[in-house]
Amino acid sequence: MSHEGIRFVSKEEARRTVQQDRTLPPEATQPAKVRVNKTEGTGMEIDWKDGHHSSWTFAWLRNACPCATCHEEREASGRQPGEPRPKANNPLPMYEPPPRPTLVAPVGRYAISFTWNDGHSSGIYSWDFLRRHCTCDECKLHHSQQS
Ligand SMILES: [Zn+2]
Ligand SMILES: [Zn+2]
Repeated sequence: MSHEGIRFVSKEEARRTVQQDRTLPPEATQPAKVRVNKTEGTGMEIDWKDGHHSSWTFAWLRNACPCATCHEEREASGRQPGEPRPKANNPLPMYEPPPRPTLVAPVGRYAISFTWNDGHSSGIYSWDFLRRHCTCDECKLHHSQQS
């Protein structure tokens, strides 16, 4: 993307690029309508220009945070984006309020960012990333056939 300027492409990112090599038509990564159900606390829904509909829970989005820190942490523990952190082995589990954004902001024309109720806000969720991680049955089937 031209507006991203020059950036260092790590081995990790290069690998991710290979994984995401399947090119999507532009209509598939342009949202026609974005609904963030912040008050209801349910999640985000996007109607794409190609007619596809995606929805994600806030918990999924929080666990899929694409920032470098979260990405590395997931890689280290072998989790997929959106997969929750295992809660086992904690004799005194602390109550964690369910993830919810306190602030939602567009990032240019290509992404959206959330400030979460746990204070984390470094993730930039590009439309491309979101479309590739659509959680609908049809797309999930496609993902599993690919791997
Ligand atoms: Zn993060
Ligand atoms: Zn889908």
